[in-house]
Amino acid sequence: MSVVTFKCPNCDAELTFDPETQRFVCNYCQGSFTQTELEAGQPASASDDTAQGAEAPTVSADTGAAVYSCPSCGAEITVDATTAATYCFYCHNPVVLAGRLEGKFMPHKLIPFKISREEAMERFMAWTRKKWFVPKHFFSKKQIEKLTGVYFPYWLVDCDVAGSLTAKAERVRRWRSGNTEYIETSHYMLTREGNIHFEDVIKSALKKANKGLVESVQPFQSSDLIGFSMPYLSGFQAEKRDIEREELQQEVVNDVNIYSRQLLLDTVQGYTSVTPLNSGAHFFNENWDYTLLPVWVLTYQGSNGKTYYYAMNGQTGTVFGRLPVSFGKLSALCGGIFVILSAILLIAGWLF
Ligand SMILES: [Zn+2]
Ligand SMILES: [Zn+2]
Repeated sequence: MSVVTFKCPNCDAELTFDPETQRFVCNYCQGSFTQTELEAGQPASASDDTAQGAEAPTVSADTGAAVYSCPSCGAEITVDATTAATYCFYCHNPVVLAGRLEGKFMPHKLIPFKISREEAMERFMAWTRKKWFVPKHFFSKKQIEKLTGVYFPYWLVDCDVAGSLTAKAERVRRWRSGNTEYIETSHYMLTREGNIHFEDVIKSALKKANKGLVESVQPFQSSDLIGFSMPYLSGFQAEKRDIEREELQQEVVNDVNIYSRQLLLDTVQGYTSVTPLNSGAHFFNENWDYTLLPVWVLTYQGSNGKTYYYAMNGQTGTVFGRLPVSFGKLSALCGGIFVILSAILLIAGWLF
């Protein structure tokens, strides 16, 4: 069983997750269900309903792209090596590639989308309106319809470390007596040690993801983290991780070393100067959670061949964007400044 769509218990149509109500909704009969109702109403029935037409996919050896058949219409769905949820191109029904979310690739956690598609579109419009040197077609309806909700894969790391720091410090005291100025420098050797708990150190787990995009929409708020459940992906795109924990281990160790050194350094106060010598963080507890996090994404192919991104944190609304600039509009702006300036000069010349 590798492809599923989640069916409405009332009418058997496809269900999608609705960020606004945080429920699973049917667009045909307007039925709306909680996760518990969905699970009770159709225990594993999603797999029964869709077992036909869900044979093992054909996978291309070079690219890892795979071809599945759509559980609703039977059409062929071609997906990237990392796609885990998408829409059928033909019948536009949501499909979840369950086979890519099983075994060691089953995510531990997820934050469901909180910002609905409508709200994301409105916020995008409001944001671009302020950037008035952006080319017109960036605002076009066709362009905005490409706004896509994607669950991106991340690793979230919790750890406990024993941090240590040694530093040299100086305290300088100056005073004057008569005509003599005295300077007294005291030298100190400092040691700091402490156990530190780090929560949710975050790393992107997708190679093809634009680094700026997946990092700049952070932070996510861990209060909304829930145990992974597949129906939340219905109606969204989802990507499967292709970066393993081993590949990130050193980066996480380095990050934690830097944070822990800074935290210990912050406890050193009251000296004229401080020079850190050695620091270390010995890990004695660590937990890695493979987590899917929600991002609204819009990409735009500029006329110069560059790809521009607009991304919004699907939980908090934090925005990241690298916008195309329209040179037509920019030169109009420069022209305007020139005209006003010369008009002022002319008036000045005429007055005096
Ligand atoms: Zn229904
Ligand atoms: Zn289909």
